[in-house]
Amino acid sequence: MKKAHRNNSPLALMFLDLDEFKAVNDTLGHDMGDVLPKEVTQRICACVREADTVARLGGDEFTVILADLDERYQNVELVAEAILRKLVEPFSLADNVVHISASIGITFYPEDAVTFDELLKNADQAMYAAKDQGRNRYHYFTPVMQEAVQKRMRIANDLRVALADNQFQLYYQPIVELATGAIRKAEALIRWQHPEYGLISPAAFIPIAEETGMIVEIGDWVFRTAVNRVAHWRAAYCADFQVSINKSPVQFAGRGVSHDIWLNQLTELGLPGESVVIEITEGLLLDASNSTKDKLLIFRDAGIQVAIDDFGTGYSCLTYLQKLDIDYLKIDQAFVFNLTPASKNMALCTAIIVMAHELGLKVIAEGIETNEQYELLAAAGCDYGQGYFYSRPVATEEFEELLKGAHPKFAL
Ligand code: C2E
Ligand code: MG
Ligand code: MG
Repeated sequence: MKKAHRNNSPLALMFLDLDEFKAVNDTLGHDMGDVLPKEVTQRICACVREADTVARLGGDEFTVILADLDERYQNVELVAEAILRKLVEPFSLADNVVHISASIGITFYPEDAVTFDELLKNADQAMYAAKDQGRNRYHYFTPVMQEAVQKRMRIANDLRVALADNQFQLYYQPIVELATGAIRKAEALIRWQHPEYGLISPAAFIPIAEETGMIVEIGDWVFRTAVNRVAHWRAAYCADFQVSINKSPVQFAGRGVSHDIWLNQLTELGLPGESVVIEITEGLLLDASNSTKDKLLIFRDAGIQVAIDDFGTGYSCLTYLQKLDIDYLKIDQAFVFNLTPASKNMALCTAIIVMAHELGLKVIAEGIETNEQYELLAAAGCDYGQGYFYSRPVATEEFEELLKGAHPKFAL
């Protein structure tokens, strides 16, 4: 760095991590795991100039320092590409042929940082971005990336106090029976009023809550709040009203203590299982372990219904529809958006509805925003609809106003 500063020429730091190293280590044993990094080092060295520096930090992590860069940093890209190309060529280790690849993060001195620690951290973050995007590629560090990482850490920390501090709120969005226009169900959707950032969308914080495990506590709070509401609504407005609750795959992992707590809460409120629909995603069922299936069956036995959320956007593995006794398919809003007669989306919606009905399932269309979308879906035989056309998700009091029938659209 001192030399680069003196010569007024930037340098690049690359952080390289092998993608499948652990698998090699585990399958071939540690002896071969020791040989591989040596071979990797030779290949990396073959891609850089004499004056550049290649180092192994340990394990499967390497750094490369490229000095004397041209102004457009063009050679950095070329070197990264050469290294990636070299490393995907098969390795012969004793009698085995091994295939690996690498992910590379790149940062520049002095542009991105001027201390060694910062540079290394940047390169490491950029390497993770390369892994996230599918491995066997390189990624540059960007300040935006840095901000994103910091904001993520901040949100993860703040999530810990959000529950105790009552910063969450549950909104409800009506689910309407298309044939009659009556509100039969509501989806509970969480809202986070952050003291500094304001309203944070669940799409932004649920993934972080999932990563940190906070989703379990948050999910329990959502369930408790929602079933208390539905008890009231069933008593006051509509005896067979249902509340639909989103459940993240993470809540199915682990020991699943929540299930007992949840079922007890229903019993305490004198509610039948039918007052709740659990929304899960296709992804959960794709790699559904037996314990996931068992937990779903516990719900089933208690009478709780199950909906597949965002249907059609994941890897649909249709066998589970039958095997797991699913009750509803929720057509993802991507299919409802731009719905016009004879469009491809129309064909997909119709096909989903026909298939679901043949299997004895009901269909809920998400994201209905216009009268035309409603009419097309109703004509196709869709059972329920949900979307801004009827109402946005609203706070409890406002939802109760809707239930009282104050909203003219429900008289369709
Ligand atoms: P989702 O379960 O698919 O919920 C539907 C999302 O679509 C909601 O976004 C809703 O506000 C939005 N939406 C409804 N109607 C329309 C429409 O007509 N047009 C458009 N453009 N959007 C519409 P929201 O509330 O931001 O929630 C996003 C996602 O966050 C949810 O997707 C769900 O996956 C997750 N989520 C929300 N609450 C919870 C929760 O309590 N637990 C868990 N695990 N996930 C939750
Ligand atoms: Mg949902
Ligand atoms: Mg959905």
